[in-house]
Amino acid sequence: MDGTFNENDLSRVVEADRAHIWHHLIQHKPFETNDPRIIVEGKGMRVWDQKGKEHLDAVSGGVWTVNVGYGRESICKAVYDQLMKLCYFANSAGSIPGAIFAENLIAKMPGMSRVYYTNSGSEANEKAFKMVRQIAHKRYGGKKTKILYRDRDYHGSTLAAMSAGGQDERNAQYGPFAPDFVRVPHCMEYRKHELGLEDLSGEAFGQAAADAIEQVILREGPDTVGALCLEPVTAGGGVIEAPEGYWQRVQEICKKYEVLLHIDEVVCGVGRTGTWFGYQQYGIKPDFVTMAKGVASGYAAIACMVTTEEVFDMFKDNADDPLNYFRDISTFGGCTAGPAAAIENMRIIEDENLLQNCTNMGERMMGNLQALMDKHKVIGDVRGKGLFLGAELVADRATKEPVNEKQAQAVVADCMAQGVIIGVTNRSVPGKNNTLCFSPALIATADDIDQITDAVDGALGRVFG
Ligand code: PMP
Repeated sequence: MDGTFNENDLSRVVEADRAHIWHHLIQHKPFETNDPRIIVEGKGMRVWDQKGKEHLDAVSGGVWTVNVGYGRESICKAVYDQLMKLCYFANSAGSIPGAIFAENLIAKMPGMSRVYYTNSGSEANEKAFKMVRQIAHKRYGGKKTKILYRDRDYHGSTLAAMSAGGQDERNAQYGPFAPDFVRVPHCMEYRKHELGLEDLSGEAFGQAAADAIEQVILREGPDTVGALCLEPVTAGGGVIEAPEGYWQRVQEICKKYEVLLHIDEVVCGVGRTGTWFGYQQYGIKPDFVTMAKGVASGYAAIACMVTTEEVFDMFKDNADDPLNYFRDISTFGGCTAGPAAAIENMRIIEDENLLQNCTNMGERMMGNLQALMDKHKVIGDVRGKGLFLGAELVADRATKEPVNEKQAQAVVADCMAQGVIIGVTNRSVPGKNNTLCFSPALIATADDIDQITDAVDGALGRVFG
């Protein structure tokens, strides 16, 4: 291999991939005998692999990212024009697309005010964590450094983000982790027996799940707890929406103990749940909001940490003190391709009314999944919001014993053979869950949605009989 091969010679591409690529999140042994999958092209809701096979992508690029679909010429053109004008300058200076996108974004986030550009969701979360720590030093004499995170939530792959990671199987072999990250219980009603709250339901359960956070704050000491970091709808942990009453109580608790509320919108952000941001469904006012995947739908790498003017102001006092500003940088936070793509991405969502389409198609898909639940007893629960849905597979509805991982994988593989790419979360958490995961692009049509759920219907029939 000398690297001079023609990119259209796909068998050489496969060879080069097999020889040199370390893919994310998978075991490579099978590639010694099987070809890795190369995705060659995408248009709208569909992608084509190296064999020319067409797939309907029900997971927006695998991980909830390509919200406006593939092959958007106007985004590519905006990025091209911007790169020709100015590709990069460190963000200690500003840029035209950076300023425009920040203004557009803040217009969608009443109460928020400042945008800090980074290049990944993990990094955006770490910026917020660092701000919380700095506030602890500036305002609270070095106390209030603890950051609470929730069982089952995920906030990224870097070590401090993993220290706030509530999915044990992801963390199992990477410790030790950073100190002062403290876990609080999840709020998953379907598995409320894990919390000893099986006698409560709906709003009463939601309030009790939030009260469990207060108990952790009291146990740790309110003067040591600086922030609470939560996903608005938990993604990889099993597509979990909190019950009624939860968020209002969370907000009250944060206010009561001066705990900053950090909402991780890396998955939900920019339309996925049918509103611009997931937290906006629940009427809460966060102090930090982080976002990544849908910000530019994968057309460029961009992530944002957004905060309030109140937080921003804390970093302006004692201007002569060299330790007093946010002493942090993200090199690629200065790339202009990200905000240029993000401006156009947001315009498309608005002009094509994709938030409404997301809500409508989400309702259709939820209806289809509920019908599948009536038909296949292996589906124990269906849940989610907008086009962010999950169907949990259980071996026994009474005990909620999860199906085994291989069976869940067989459903995904069967759908793939039918030309539909779906996902599965938490497949390796023993005793937790196996949730089929659906997050089609916000442009999905009724036919697309039906094709996805028809494929799942067929797959469940073949795998579970
Ligand atoms: N937060 C959440 C909720 C996520 O799902 C992810 C990625 N799956 C991240 C943070 C990390 O984002 P990134 O991979 O861009 O670092």
